[in-house]
Amino acid sequence: MNQRIQEIYRPVELRRRDFDEVERTLSFDELKGQAERCMNCGIPFCHGTGCPLGNVIPEINAAAGAGNWEKAWDILSSTSSFPEFTSRICPALCEGSCTDGINSEPVMIRQLEKAVTETAFRSGFVKPLIPAKRTGRRVAVIGAGPAGLAVAAALNLAGHEVTVFEKNASPGGLLRYGIPDFKLAKKIIDRRINLMREAGIRFELNTEVGRDVSGDYLARRNDAVVLAIGTPMARDLKIPGREAAGIHFALEFLQGQNRVIGRECADLPVCATGKRVVVIGGGDTGSDCVGTSIRQGAESILQIEIMPKPPVNRSPSTPWPQWPYMLRTSSSHKEGGERRWNLASKRFLSDDEGHVTGIEAVTVEWELSPLGKPLRFHEVAGSEEIIPADLVLLAMGFIGVPADGVAAELGLKVDERGRVQAAPERGIFCAGDCASGASLVVRAIAAGRSVAQEAERYLSGGAL
Ligand SMILES: Cc1cc2nc3c(=O)[nH]c(=O)nc-3n(C[C@H](O)[C@H](O)[C@H](O)COP(=O)(O)OP(=O)(O)OC[C@H]3O[C@@H](n4cnc5c(N)ncnc54)[C@H](O)[C@@H]3O)c2cc1C
Repeated sequence: MNQRIQEIYRPVELRRRDFDEVERTLSFDELKGQAERCMNCGIPFCHGTGCPLGNVIPEINAAAGAGNWEKAWDILSSTSSFPEFTSRICPALCEGSCTDGINSEPVMIRQLEKAVTETAFRSGFVKPLIPAKRTGRRVAVIGAGPAGLAVAAALNLAGHEVTVFEKNASPGGLLRYGIPDFKLAKKIIDRRINLMREAGIRFELNTEVGRDVSGDYLARRNDAVVLAIGTPMARDLKIPGREAAGIHFALEFLQGQNRVIGRECADLPVCATGKRVVVIGGGDTGSDCVGTSIRQGAESILQIEIMPKPPVNRSPSTPWPQWPYMLRTSSSHKEGGERRWNLASKRFLSDDEGHVTGIEAVTVEWELSPLGKPLRFHEVAGSEEIIPADLVLLAMGFIGVPADGVAAELGLKVDERGRVQAAPERGIFCAGDCASGASLVVRAIAAGRSVAQEAERYLSGGAL
């Protein structure tokens, strides 16, 4: 029986020296072998439970395995707006609920999705989605991240005149300015934006709603408004010494590199070259800081996390088909750097010039539930240590949307967790991270598609 292919990345020595995508291209034989592992189960949990988009995975796999790429593309694109993004950067929730994963390893669903998508682009199956007729209704979408783009694509296809307002110089949101090129090349985003422009969608770039144009004005000038501004506020670490130079939010660092792609970082406000880098926070953002620091030539890289090290295999607290709580080792982690868990940061140390020199940290011990879920921790007396650092990157998540600004201009409430609440009765909708809290690209796209359906019902006078 075919096994899951373990080596899916370009060799470490090559990839750590460039910003090209880390994943290698799988051969047709390798892909066919993977498609054949798909068992076409009676109840495909990958499709029903795993994928937020509801991708019909067994049918896509069957068509791809038979070499019928056009059919595979038709099935995939019927539920997924931008499979070229998810097939590169999705953690593949579907694979967490793949039946093969019960007593073996899941089918490589994400790689099959990528092969179908890239073959479709190469073969000319991917066309601009131009509506048959225009309705004359106008929609403003605020924010050109994956959620806003998914809303715009769907409402444009329904015939409405869609304008996307974006504060940055280029569309893409965190796809472009957060996620590094070595995971998702910018040309993949540009390729999709070109198709969207060809389909008639307008982009007003370098336009911050709330500063350059008011939300209230957009609401008056349009038949519907969709807010898709993500979660702009990063979680801070307010411990003594935080004001020292050399302590930055992860996105300041990642955005800088994403704006110059592959070029030297010496002129950027935050650059890791020759520095002892400490990344605080163990998630995706932290891992992207590790990979970027490696490419910038950091002297050393340590990623620290207050949570305990997750189990190597699926924890009993998340039985199949749930998304498994387990240790995640990204392509960046395989390239270098060190990771440590159970460490709480107590204060930052700095030199006479006010530049950070280290972090005082203490070991914590976690009390676990009977199923292994971390419940609460205490500090271990006498375990204090100094971790040397010239550059500290804070990658501890996001705290949502400020209650003032665009949300207030549109008369929308922001709840205690920083999530904006829509006012569909007034034709004002919210999609993606700004409505759900920081999440995943696939969820932002799924939210964009479902909010577009809601907006479409409103615009066509149907029940909400
Ligand atoms: C570093 C990093 C790495 C990640 N890696 C992954 C990954 O590998 N896989 C994954 O699935 N998810 C990943 N995520 C999460 C994922 O990127 C987000 O969940 C997703 O981008 C949310 O989409 P969105 O459209 O809601 O918001 P965003 O992508 O944040 O887009 C919001 C857009 O709104 C614009 N905007 C904000 N305010 C205004 C305004 N007032 N006027 C005009 N425009 C405005 C912003 O400039 C931005 O372009 C990562 C996140 C980060 C930070």
